[in-house]
Amino acid sequence: MSEGVPLSLLENSVLISGGAGIQWVNLSAELEWSFDEFQRRHRLDAAAARMAYRSRFSDSNPENCLPISAVLPDGDAAKFVFCVGWRWGGSASPQEPLEIESVMLPMKNRHGGRWLTLCISSQIGCRMGCEFCQTGRMGLIGQLPASHIIAQVLTVQHWLREKRPGSTIKNIVFMGMGEPLDNADAVFKAIRLFTEPRGLAFAPACITLSTVGRIDGLQRFAREDIPPVRLAISITSADDHLRSRLMPINRSMPLAKLRQTLLDLPRSSRSRYLIQYVMLKGINDDPRDAHQLAQWCQDLPVTVNLIAYNPQDPPIFEASTPDRIEAFSAVLKNSGILVKQRATICQARMGACGQLGNRHLRRRPSESTSNRA
Ligand code: SF4
Repeated sequence: MSEGVPLSLLENSVLISGGAGIQWVNLSAELEWSFDEFQRRHRLDAAAARMAYRSRFSDSNPENCLPISAVLPDGDAAKFVFCVGWRWGGSASPQEPLEIESVMLPMKNRHGGRWLTLCISSQIGCRMGCEFCQTGRMGLIGQLPASHIIAQVLTVQHWLREKRPGSTIKNIVFMGMGEPLDNADAVFKAIRLFTEPRGLAFAPACITLSTVGRIDGLQRFAREDIPPVRLAISITSADDHLRSRLMPINRSMPLAKLRQTLLDLPRSSRSRYLIQYVMLKGINDDPRDAHQLAQWCQDLPVTVNLIAYNPQDPPIFEASTPDRIEAFSAVLKNSGILVKQRATICQARMGACGQLGNRHLRRRPSESTSNRA
């Protein structure tokens, strides 16, 4: 354990039984209650319920926080490793801790504004198997409940109160471990609770849900009237053959269908899709790849985010060179597409995009892989 774990958080590490051989760290059940459910169960009038409900989500309540296994700082950024539960091991290790990771990122804009964004996890591991991602190597071990998704934010807020008073999380991005739309029930519930005005009250525009392009999940997102959070779509190649190799989801949900789904989704006028493109040297960073991407983006309201590959452990690709990324970006800009280049943050701590995950923790053959897209 590193960097001063608040004792109150460790005292909270009570276990409860979960499905699929997992015992979850116990958190307050009320973290999963909507305002209406909270008011009904406590039989409170509206004013009293509002006050009590807001304090229910307080980051000073240890029942809302996960035990922290490690805090790995990298400048103002930090990777948090949380224990969310345990699974039964073999006779040599009867209990194995299950850990997830969140990354706190200092952000700034060109007007001098500064804020903190927290990148959170939605699953323990992931079954999507993207070639360039450390989490994908783990396989799916477990689906996080909504309470354990919300608790990542509350635990980091709690830590900030002790370690960096005055700092607070402003933005939340579902870009940590897992594919959020593969755990849609819990993720949609968490989004509703994050944005509940009488509770945590995050603005929907301050939350980004990132997906590999689960068409079923995107359609459900529209159908179920989820608060209008921003959507980020990981593309990484606009060529079906290459994308199917890099991102197996493309075999069942190919680019044309994904594009049509994005065109069909009802969008508020100020929203744009963030198209994520991981730049792999010699694989997908040729100007011809950029032209193909520009064509795929046509008529879609998008900003393309170019991300230099962050190496896994061990790495299997190389990052594109800055010149190559610049040339790729120029093709997109000349086609009238807005382009951003994401700075690499927290790479030294294996906390950058595509690096999260525990290489010693893997799905066992007995654990379910059904529903693989
Ligand atoms: S990039 Fe996302 S969806 Fe793909 S394997 Fe990694 S965590 Fe899963």
